[in-house]
Amino acid sequence: MARCPECGGFMKYHSAIKQVVCQSCGLSLSRHELDRYWKKVRSENISEDDDMQQKKNRRKEWLDWYSSSKESKEKDY
Ligand SMILES: [Zn+2]
Repeated sequence: MARCPECGGFMKYHSAIKQVVCQSCGLSLSRHELDRYWKKVRSENISEDDDMQQKKNRRKEWLDWYSSSKESKEKDY
């Protein structure tokens, strides 16, 4: 059974509307759309992880710089 890319709920195929409908959040997509949605979600998750890692590194660098500059200011006093 297909899984909802939005909430992870089970998706049921309704032949009348030719769409899969999420049992949890009500998201309805055609099978083709669902396929594309999953591919999009997967690729976004991968790039998001990379971005998050870069942001964390950048933040750490900034914090290191900030704490070292603060220390040097305190020394000036
Ligand atoms: Zn859902």
